[in-house]
Amino acid sequence: MPLWGFYLPCRIAASVTPFVQPSQKSIWTTSVSLVSTTMDAVDKENRDRELGSLVPVSVEEWQQWGTSSPIPAMVAEVIEDIKALTQESEVHVNFGGSGGKLPGSFKDLEDKKLKEVYKSLCDSEKKLQYFSARQIACRLLGSRQHLCQKCWLAVEDCMCSKLIKCSLWQGIKFWIYMHPKDFLRQNNTGKLLWQMFGIHSAALCLFGIHEHEDIMWNAFRDSGKNKTWFLYPNRNESPSSVKDVFSDDQFTNLHDGKMDVFEKPLNFVLIDGTWSNSAAMYRRLKERWISTRGDEHLPCISLSNLGASVMHKLRPQPAWDRTCTAAAAAGILDELHLLPSFSMYELDKQAGATGDALDVLLDALVNRRLRLGRSIKRKARHNNCI
Ligand SMILES: [Zn+2]
Repeated sequence: MPLWGFYLPCRIAASVTPFVQPSQKSIWTTSVSLVSTTMDAVDKENRDRELGSLVPVSVEEWQQWGTSSPIPAMVAEVIEDIKALTQESEVHVNFGGSGGKLPGSFKDLEDKKLKEVYKSLCDSEKKLQYFSARQIACRLLGSRQHLCQKCWLAVEDCMCSKLIKCSLWQGIKFWIYMHPKDFLRQNNTGKLLWQMFGIHSAALCLFGIHEHEDIMWNAFRDSGKNKTWFLYPNRNESPSSVKDVFSDDQFTNLHDGKMDVFEKPLNFVLIDGTWSNSAAMYRRLKERWISTRGDEHLPCISLSNLGASVMHKLRPQPAWDRTCTAAAAAGILDELHLLPSFSMYELDKQAGATGDALDVLLDALVNRRLRLGRSIKRKARHNNCI
């Protein structure tokens, strides 16, 4: 698949809308949820107001979506590009998540703009970064004032008051390595981890956003040897089990029964994307591991007891073999808890709290579908789970 073949949303805010490829529709028309009409004098006022919704993203707004990072430069750039293009066009564009089609005049402009951008991007890495940034910028614009910034559900479906927060043992840190098309997706489960445990115990790292990836890889470097583990999403290969790797009590770094405060936590990386995207995400992790560590062997673990996620009822084919990202995190905690050197940290309770959070999300999504008069059963569109 060419780098520009990343799937893009046809509607930004829809939680279960299938994705289309740019080859089927133009990136600009498919990645921005738009309602457009021909410009006339009456629309001028509306247009000015809507351009107001394209104000630059502040650091506060950006971070409220679930990250402590600065605003990625390319995301800010893309938002500026969209604003400039909208101002040039003869249409007004409403970012509201309600869907719609663009008229020909804006489409011509967008095609031209897209070609210019491609021409200016010199290598495949830049192209990947651009499309990640574009995906994220468009999702963010389309979600403003529509989604709750904490739970990523439509404001009327907000589940925040029902979610019970929990402290994660300080010896563990989760990294949610998220594909851009999962960003602000209502049925994403990776977001639950930082909602529950906080952004310092469960950090968002967006695929292709180099600021995020640099933060994560710097943390890996600072953590030292044997402190970074990738949860391998494919059972066809045979990575080490949690028991194989962590039975040795060297990992708990105990001093008088307590973890040394100067010790860095164990990093667990969870690939948070659909099955079809996870291979590219894994490959990117592996390439960077090799280039930074000079080691061909990416340290991977697999879980022994992955059960079907409750989320599977609503969302088929997650990257984790028949389960979802939050359930995978709970699986790590549960399996570590069974090992004597980890048994004192109440990881089983933290796993249980994660399961409870998944139930809360599932209830919210079911209620949303019922409210919208939709079926709560998913069609089996994808059957590529193992
Ligand atoms: Zn909420």
